Amino acid sequence: MPDDATLIGLFPGHSLDLDNRAFYAGWLEKELRLNRCADCRRWHHPPQPVCPACWSDQVRPTAVTGRGTIHLLIRLHQGPAAPGVDYAAGPYPVVVVELEEQAGLRFTSTIVGYEPSDLAIGTAVELEWIERAGTPFPVFRPVRRPSGQPA
Ligand SMILES: [Zn+2]
Repeated sequence: MPDDATLIGLFPGHSLDLDNRAFYAGWLEKELRLNRCADCRRWHHPPQPVCPACWSDQVRPTAVTGRGTIHLLIRLHQGPAAPGVDYAAGPYPVVVVELEEQAGLRFTSTIVGYEPSDLAIGTAVELEWIERAGTPFPVFRPVRRPSGQPA
């Protein structure tokens, strides 16, 4: 894992701290690491130093599969400037994905490689990594059957 100064330098604009450093370090290895409690086995996100379910401090950054379904969908027509975001190209999709690991475990990002009909609640998606601001960035893409049809 890179030292703190290196890691902070790689993610300008993000608020890195002791609780989320493993989360961001995971991006560099293209792993989405969310905290999982070693005592009650519950996952939670965003990173917190104590399990919100049982108050154990035995939380461990653990890679998720990245598979899930779209739980919430937003089409942004305008917003703050951000690397890789072009509102003029069309509405920028933001998806909240419920991950397969646990009901209620959700991760927010954007979606790539989609057809307009994929932008719907319940669409099966999987994790994908794009490059943004010089580092890997976790996004989702629709899961396709070999036929090219949505899963
Ligand atoms: Zn717990």
